[in-house]
Amino acid sequence: MFKIKALRCKDCGERLKGRSDKLYCDDRCRVRYFRSNNQLHLIKRGVDQILHRNRSLLIRMRENMKTFSTNSEDRAFWLRRKGFDFNFHTHVLTLHDGRMAIMCYEEGYVLDGNGVVPWLENQERVQTLLTT
Ligand SMILES: [Zn+2]
Repeated sequence: MFKIKALRCKDCGERLKGRSDKLYCDDRCRVRYFRSNNQLHLIKRGVDQILHRNRSLLIRMRENMKTFSTNSEDRAFWLRRKGFDFNFHTHVLTLHDGRMAIMCYEEGYVLDGNGVVPWLENQERVQTLLTT
């Protein structure tokens, strides 16, 4: 059966009538689409800045583990003081022992009591850093 793909408004999803090059029902839909797109852009930019800062701090923490405090609570305190936002991350990995690695892209941390341990690809190394 031959079927013409129905064109729909980019904002509200309604079927478009009339000219085939139309993208929106009307100006109201067009304006609303741009406004919400712009809002989303601003939100994404804000989230991206937080994730970027979180990732940078995780790299600094991981790279300075030798000189860093061995106390995982001190590490969490250091992150917080430097502006790390614990509400933002990209994904979560489950470790072999059931604990979670909370990731900001390819960097991450593992919760350890009230503190944190840097996530390292070699899980045995994480294990040796844990205080429990
Ligand atoms: Zn519409």
